Amino acid sequence: MSALDDAVAAIRQRRPKRVVAFTGAGVSAESGIPTFRGPGGLWQSFRPEDLATPEAFARDPDVVWQWYEWRRGLVRAAQPNAAHRAIARLPDAIVVTQNVDGLHTRGGSRDVIELHGSIFRVRCTREHTTRDAFEAFAEVPPRCECGALLRPDVVWFGEALPPDAWERATEAIRRADLLLVIGTSGVVYPAAGLVALSRGLSIEVNPEASGISSACTFAIPMTAAEATPRIVEELLR
Ligand code: NAD
Repeated sequence: MSALDDAVAAIRQRRPKRVVAFTGAGVSAESGIPTFRGPGGLWQSFRPEDLATPEAFARDPDVVWQWYEWRRGLVRAAQPNAAHRAIARLPDAIVVTQNVDGLHTRGGSRDVIELHGSIFRVRCTREHTTRDAFEAFAEVPPRCECGALLRPDVVWFGEALPPDAWERATEAIRRADLLLVIGTSGVVYPAAGLVALSRGLSIEVNPEASGISSACTFAIPMTAAEATPRIVEELLR
């Protein structure tokens, strides 16, 4: 039997009710959005750790914004894939995502906790107000009406996670009977530490072994779009 068959058999036996999907960049890979550690085209020679930081923004907001505009363009053109859509079929599932791409919501999930913010929201660096911003900016770096620079409303390396999102995520994972861990390398903390809070069944979907595979009950070496629909099918039976 494959790891997927074993996991499906465990779901059949335990019939978990409270389901949390904890996702990372890999869940969006099959929508054509590169993971940080995959091939990144134009930006392949840049390390995200050198661009997604407050220091990089203070040094060169123009280059940081060019990188974000490139990523925002990729995500605008992308569609949710079979994994996003399958998760959305679980009516009461809570999604805890490290992604900033909004694809879970566009795929139909109603309860999405965004631990790292959204690239389709901006924040004024002076007034700290936020607003949605889906379309490309006419000029980068964009500015607030007050004249100050706008920044993407995302969590950069070295910044704290939004406390309310973190609290909701830890509570949901502690209470879950089933934690699906999909497409995360498990190396970006504190988000990666969430898996250790799970007390129920935990199933990882990732074609590669990750930093958290050994903490999960089952590790399925398949892609998100291949394995997730089968798991969801069993949960809905
Ligand atoms: P990561 O880039 O560190 O790791 C991605 C993981 O996904 C890897 O373990 C890889 O083996 C796995 N993977 C690749 N293709 C997959 C597929 N088809 N199905 C399932 N798994 C697949 O990403 P991370 O762990 O999320 O951490 C990086 C940080 O950067 C996070 O904050 C992340 O969300 C952010 N980021 C977000 C996006 C996005 O919003 N789409 C894209 C890149 C990075």
